[in-house]
Amino acid sequence: MFYQFLRAIRCALPTSCIVCGQVAETDHSICNDCGSELPKLSDCCQRCGIELNGRLSHDRCCASCQLSPPSFDSCTAAFPYVSPINKLIADFKFSARFDIGYSLSRTLASAFNAYYTGMDKPELLLPVPLHESRLRSRGFNQANEIGKVLAKYCAVPLSHSTLSKVRNTEPQSSMNSVAARAKNLRKAFTVSGMAELSGVTHIALIDDVVTSMATTQTISRMLREQQDCRIDVWCLARTRL
Ligand SMILES: [Zn+2]
Ligand SMILES: [Zn+2]
Repeated sequence: MFYQFLRAIRCALPTSCIVCGQVAETDHSICNDCGSELPKLSDCCQRCGIELNGRLSHDRCCASCQLSPPSFDSCTAAFPYVSPINKLIADFKFSARFDIGYSLSRTLASAFNAYYTGMDKPELLLPVPLHESRLRSRGFNQANEIGKVLAKYCAVPLSHSTLSKVRNTEPQSSMNSVAARAKNLRKAFTVSGMAELSGVTHIALIDDVVTSMATTQTISRMLREQQDCRIDVWCLARTRL
């Protein structure tokens, strides 16, 4: 209820730029000056979304994906996870700054529409779920908020009931090895809405930040056990190597 109120207030106010606070003359709350200065991704691996940084690649695939491709088909981010994007995403998640979430998601929606030009779009958007206790303490699921903007601007249906997080895990950022991250997520997620997946062959999995890919890999593997489908990951930001 409180968050609905907060969202309504923010929508009613004239839009100020989420970066500099000045009046933004754009409909997505990033002024033109800040928009041109925000960090941009260079050439990225078409599988895992990591920046290639001029490293040699085969078919735009990084060395690690050539050796062992991830369990999803592609990962695309709107921004690199660097300043000020990291701070903006933290304010969105931890201070309920829906204006920031909306604004960054609009950039992601533009990238999404550009990516699928001339191709079939995914048939379903699935936000990475939060455990119920985390959802209660935060009041909202940030991936769901991103998904709502994509659903509206990319015209793809969103389902927030297909996936559930059934085990409350430690934050992935507190795990210091790949094995620890994978173990932390074991049996953490489940497909709770099989009906929504019926006939779906192409899914977009939505997250705020993709770091180690442990979460997106775990969910993709689980989805693929249920359904033969293409899975494209979409996130606001991707960490740099
Ligand atoms: Zn600005
Ligand atoms: Zn890669």
